[in-house]
Amino acid sequence: MSGALDHLVTAAAAELMAASAADSAAISQRVLGNLVSDLGVDFSFLRHNDHTIRATVLVAEWPPRNADPDPIGVVYFADADSVFTRAENLKVPEVVRPEAANADYQSNIDEGTGWGAVSLAAVPLLSGDVTTGTLAFGKVGDREWLPEELNALQAVAALFAQLQARIVAEEQLHYLAEHDDLTGLLNRRALIAYLDKRLAAGQPGSVSVVFLALDRFKVINERLGQNAGDRFIEAFAALLRAATDVPSVIARFGGDEFVVVPAASMDVEAAEEFAQSIHSRVQRKVVIDGEMLSRTVSIGVAAGIPGSESTSDLLRRVDQATRTAKSSGGNKVAIFSPEMSRTDMIRNDIELYLEGIIDNDSDALVLHYLPEFDMRTGEILGTEALIRWQHPTLGLLMPDSFIQVVESINLGAKLGRLVIRSACAQFGMWQSRGVGHGAVLRINVSPVQLVTEGIVDTVTTTLEEFGLDPSTVCLEITESVVVQDIDATRKTLFGLKDIGVQIAIDDFGTGYSVLTYLKSLPVDALKIDKGFVHHLDTNPGDLAIVRSTLALADAFGLDVVAEGVETVAAAKTLLALGCSRAQGFLLSRPLDSAAMESLLAKRVIPMDFSDASDAPQPETPGRKDVV
Ligand code: C2E
Ligand code: CA
Ligand code: CA
Repeated sequence: MSGALDHLVTAAAAELMAASAADSAAISQRVLGNLVSDLGVDFSFLRHNDHTIRATVLVAEWPPRNADPDPIGVVYFADADSVFTRAENLKVPEVVRPEAANADYQSNIDEGTGWGAVSLAAVPLLSGDVTTGTLAFGKVGDREWLPEELNALQAVAALFAQLQARIVAEEQLHYLAEHDDLTGLLNRRALIAYLDKRLAAGQPGSVSVVFLALDRFKVINERLGQNAGDRFIEAFAALLRAATDVPSVIARFGGDEFVVVPAASMDVEAAEEFAQSIHSRVQRKVVIDGEMLSRTVSIGVAAGIPGSESTSDLLRRVDQATRTAKSSGGNKVAIFSPEMSRTDMIRNDIELYLEGIIDNDSDALVLHYLPEFDMRTGEILGTEALIRWQHPTLGLLMPDSFIQVVESINLGAKLGRLVIRSACAQFGMWQSRGVGHGAVLRINVSPVQLVTEGIVDTVTTTLEEFGLDPSTVCLEITESVVVQDIDATRKTLFGLKDIGVQIAIDDFGTGYSVLTYLKSLPVDALKIDKGFVHHLDTNPGDLAIVRSTLALADAFGLDVVAEGVETVAAAKTLLALGCSRAQGFLLSRPLDSAAMESLLAKRVIPMDFSDASDAPQPETPGRKDVV
């Protein structure tokens, strides 16, 4: 190789070996430009072979033509001219000079560049046995190509091939760092980086996030194995891609969680519609290991304003929305609302403080009592202990806003023991003051308490400690729980029955299938869920359910208590059906312990359903009746 050619290769090497993915296009173009002038030719191009689509793709050229669309930007080998076709698997340098054999090529070049006939030296870029591209130099008109020139070009082509391999490796690393292996979707890290950019101050519009969590995905893993679970996730990712019909970034956020971020600005209303359309489209059945599987999905939606909200804020809000969708049965779309923040705040407070509150017997937890009446006579038949949390900033919290969280962080049993002790202590104290004899104390028992070992012991020792007759205490278990784990429940219930306490099925009618188990469980009473009582006088369906519940209870010899009596009409209907035991706001609101004590002292409260009397006073926070 002559000195000049040597120098030419060294100069190209210095540039190309320092190039990276980011600047490779600019550097390649500059190197081509230098080579064109050093070789005294007119043009040069570098093309890469894309063997997956069987095409050659223009990467850099000199001089730049900036054609758009470029007729020779991507050339498919299948319909290429004779020279381009040979580029697919070219292994050695090829020289083309204007002659009839390559007329098709010449006219192609002329069409793309307007140069007329050319003389061309093309050398392959090689990676092992694979031709990964072509480097070519050409001169308008004819030119002879010396063997040492072709040698030098091969050396330069090797440098280009090396750069190409480096870029592929770099991109792959980048891809792997940003994508989820299983689905090829963006991973969590890449999503966060993307949202950081979108939410940066000064970015336009509102950034909507749609968060999808599969419902009960665990079951697939557990029943069919991890591998089937992975196949399902893959299939779901494909469904999600297909269902996402506006340009969006799609990421796999975690195991069974996905996030879709529309690329354009979208307000919450539009995002909800978008989420609904995804929701309706992703629920296809897929076949995994010969089984037809499908999962419903819970979707949360939230939007953020660039500059005013961080990625973590936005993700926390959309996660809250998703959890709300999930906890209300799943298979739905929920939009983030400030109320959810409140739930989240309560959740945080519970996680931070409630255990301490329980342990220290703090006065933040109180029991209120809901009396139960015989509506015929006005006699007080019982009193149900209901937990409340006197929250420092949120006020008196009802159990529905914290019991679920308590249980989700495994404090259910602990709180349950506290309620049992406090209610029994109160009941014992009332009796020692001569009130409440003949009435039954009702205590709600949480699902986890039923399956944890100690409840029978707890109840036994507590009854003894406060000197209570076991038959005056009734534990209430919600129907849906009874249905869920019938064997464990049966065992506990028989244990409780052995010590003589009563057992009631709460919220009866909401669990549907418990009827079949009733015979085999030691149950004393059914409490008809308030949902059936509210509109008893007008809803024939509710009436039918209440009627058949009463018949069933009669057949099994069970007591029945109606919950949620709010209207005179409901009270009258119940009485007409022969159900006289009841609770409800019409009869009394939940009372603090002092008010409950004076009520118990009266034993009988005259009842008058002849006119629509006003409901009693709303429930107020009690101060003295501390748990
Ligand atoms: P539950 O056992 O069905 O208790 C009756 C609920 O209905 C009470 O709500 C009561 O205030 C309400 N209620 C009574 N009459 C009426 C009425 O006429 N209309 C309406 N709309 N509501 C009425 P609360 O106190 O909010 O309790 C909700 C649920 O929380 C309870 O439902 C029970 O499942 C649970 N719970 C309450 N205290 C405890 C407890 O100490 N431990 C456990 N595990 N759960 C508890
Ligand atoms: Ca109850
Ligand atoms: Ca109930």
